[in-house]
Order: sequence, then structure tokens, then C-alpha cells
Amino acid sequence: MKIEIISCLNDNYSYLIFEKETNIISIVDPSDFNACDEVIRKYKKLDYILNTHHHLDHVGGNLELKDKYNSKILASEKDKRRIPGIDILLKDKQIFKIGNLEFKIIFIPGHTSGHIAFYFKKEKILFSGDTLFSLGCGRVFEGTHAEMLNSLNKLKSLPSDTKVYCGHEYTKRNLDFCLKYDNKNQFLKDKIKEVNLRLKDNLPTIPTSIGDEIKTNIFLRCEDKAIKQALSLKDSSDQEIFAKLRDLKDAF
Ligand code: ZN
Ligand code: FE
Repeated sequence: MKIEIISCLNDNYSYLIFEKETNIISIVDPSDFNACDEVIRKYKKLDYILNTHHHLDHVGGNLELKDKYNSKILASEKDKRRIPGIDILLKDKQIFKIGNLEFKIIFIPGHTSGHIAFYFKKEKILFSGDTLFSLGCGRVFEGTHAEMLNSLNKLKSLPSDTKVYCGHEYTKRNLDFCLKYDNKNQFLKDKIKEVNLRLKDNLPTIPTSIGDEIKTNIFLRCEDKAIKQALSLKDSSDQEIFAKLRDLKDAF
């Protein structure tokens, strides 16, 4: 399984998946036709388009790509009325095969009500869309804070060496926010140099890993005492901490 990271629009990432043995080509969240097609063209085909959710910056290339390559579009059954060109409706926990690769659907509502992640268990790879970012999480648009936290907890329970490919390059801004309320976290401090180095060379900070995120991403650390203290919410539940952090980040 080979993954090509494709920068789209301002800060979006689309991901091309190349399965060599059967020559099956897929793309996750094609934001923009031209940027994606520049990469797809080399392979001369596109079998599948996988959408994590319905937002335009994730489905913007759907119809033109489908039209050009006769691809099949896969997305959550919950989004069947709002994913352009949808062909195959996916259910939570469903296993789907693309060539020799197998992935599982993880239903993770909160950012949108039909948001899903694609989990390649054997390859230890997760496409998390706008739910889990490097050092952050998506805004809660269509769900509740409780739903979003529950979704993040599902992802948190995956093996720590799972590589995470998310929908946006938001890492630097997320890092600044994490540092504000978790400034004693040495793992987080160690990230500063690493992130700055990547961005200075115009390289993606992606992929991250579940293990790294658990150690550094403040939204996965709502149970941490020092963070509760920093928010002056010592006796609050994890869910209250999450909601507070999400509100603060929205205004950050
Ligand atoms: Zn989105
Ligand atoms: Fe997005």
C-alpha cells in the first residue's frame, strides 16, 4: 500500500492509495479536481473515491473525477443525500475490500452527523477526515460534544502505532493551542522543533500516530489533571473538559 499526499486548496490533504498487486487506485477526500488529477493521471485510472464526510472541501473533486475515470464513490449511508455522486453506502463497522486491501468503517459523528473514518487494520493506517487532526480535532458542527468525545475515544482505542492521515494541515495552530493549556507536557514541547522543521521545508506534518496524539493532543487528554487545573476545572468530568477546550479553541 503506497500513499501519496496531495495538497489541495489552502490547507486540505487528499490521499491517493495505490495497491500494487492488483493495481487498484483509490483517493480519500478529493478536495479539488485539478490538484488530485495531476497525481491520478500518472496511474491512468481511479477505481474508488472514499469520502469521510460531506463538506465541500472533501468532496469538491468527486463528480469531475467520477466522470473522467468512471470511479465508484463510497461514503456513509447517513450521507447518501449529500455526497455528490455516491454509489456505495457504507455502514458502521463494515469491512470493504479495494484490491488486496481491506478497510473497516468507523462511524465517528460530531463534526458532521455522517462522518466516518477508514481504518486499514493490517497496514495500521487510519484516514480520520476532520474528526482527529494532528494535535487537534474538528469543530463540532452537527453533533454534540458528547458524540465528538465518544468518536475521539473510539480512535484513541486503536493500536498506538496506527498512522493517522487527517484532512487538514492545522498542526502548527493546534500546537500553539495545546501549549497554552498543557505547557508542562514534555512530549508536546518536543513537538515544537519537529513541526517547525517540517513546515519550514514545506513538508506535511502528516502522518501522525495514535500513540503520539494520546501523548500530545489536548483533546485526547481531557482526563489529565494538569490540564483540568490549567482550566480551573479541577472537579469537572472529561466531557465538561472537552466541551470547554472545544469552545476555547473555536475562539482561539
Ligand atoms: Zn469538514
Ligand atoms: Fe475540512
